Amino acid sequence: MELFSYARVDNAAAAVKQVAEHEHAKFLGGGTNLLDYMKLDVETPKHLVDINSLPLNQIEVTDSGVRIGALVRNTELAYHEAIRQKYPVLSEALLAGATPQIRNMATVGGNLLQRTRCTYFRDTCWSCNKRQPGSGCAALEGYNRSHAILGTSDKCIATHPSDMCVALCSLDAVVETLGPQGKRRIPLNEFYVAYGTDPAKENVLQGNELIVAVELPNAGVYAHSHYLKVRDRASFEFALVSVAAALEIHNGKIAGVRLALGGVATKPWRATEAETALVGQAASEAEYLKAANVALQNAKPQKHNGFKIELTRRAIVRTLTELTAPKV
Ligand SMILES: Cc1cc2nc3c(=O)[nH]c(=O)nc-3n(C[C@H](O)[C@H](O)[C@H](O)COP(=O)(O)OP(=O)(O)OC[C@H]3O[C@@H](n4cnc5c(N)ncnc54)[C@H](O)[C@@H]3O)c2cc1C
Ligand code: SF4
Repeated sequence: MELFSYARVDNAAAAVKQVAEHEHAKFLGGGTNLLDYMKLDVETPKHLVDINSLPLNQIEVTDSGVRIGALVRNTELAYHEAIRQKYPVLSEALLAGATPQIRNMATVGGNLLQRTRCTYFRDTCWSCNKRQPGSGCAALEGYNRSHAILGTSDKCIATHPSDMCVALCSLDAVVETLGPQGKRRIPLNEFYVAYGTDPAKENVLQGNELIVAVELPNAGVYAHSHYLKVRDRASFEFALVSVAAALEIHNGKIAGVRLALGGVATKPWRATEAETALVGQAASEAEYLKAANVALQNAKPQKHNGFKIELTRRAIVRTLTELTAPKV
């Protein structure tokens, strides 16, 4: 681990100023991702700005939705009554992630910016365009069973690892930030960028922008939602495939749907074409299968992860079928 300086701040403007003024500075949330990567020399910030004293740990329920402070811990969010009732997909996704101890520390802001678990990214012995732009991608020719099949480029095939973000993607969440130029509101579906030629650039944030909150809009469809995570072991494991879905059915027909995928794409993946294919159709397994095929029509498997196409297809059909089944 490289030497770094550390400061704790108690207001958001001071946090932004510190990060703007120091060379290669980073905000410190729960530290469960950043400190891991600092110990591995993958992240080498020169200055850490600890934001844990900022007043960003409230969950506010309003008529227009819910506003979640960036420092709300994953555990608190998962068990909040309004989240469980109105956005169950988010509660389920959070509880499917990591372990209770990690969820107790992990913040909403840090979860949004957690970095990939690609083995070659985590080990500085390997070439990795994301860690060291222009050095190549060891995963392309390596063991790529856990890697992405959607949104990949010839520079990087790493998956986005978060469960929470897949649920937020299905819930039309909006990220609020504060930077030297003031506040910004960024729809989550525009927050992450395609890798293209520079896999080190993962989102639209400027380096010195602080995430202050995430807002969820209010719509009936979100209350009937579900998260399915398929992984190699039942706990303490990242997704091979995950599906976040919300469904509104009127008279046997689909009136509204939200569908997002995790574990298979380079960013939390909103399956908008599949959603369009479903609206107005019968709420049936046959239609879910057709939509799953639409969602996967541009999937590009690597040498070891072709199984993810069929697994994702089945996971989509199962998630939507479980949402359709009457509650007993
Ligand atoms: C063993 C293990 C297993 C895990 N399993 C899962 C899993 O199954 N599913 C899953 O989804 N996740 C999993 N995780 C990841 C975990 O969810 C993340 O580590 C956590 O959400 C990161 O949040 P944090 O607050 O600790 O972030 P930090 O480590 O503090 O920060 C992460 C990044 O976000 C930046 N940052 C933090 N807060 C802000 C802010 N407000 N504004 C701007 N930038 C900010 C930091 O500078 C840093 O770059 C696992 C982690 C571990 C260690
Ligand atoms: S897949 Fe991306 S993160 Fe993994 S080695 Fe290749 S460039 Fe690096």
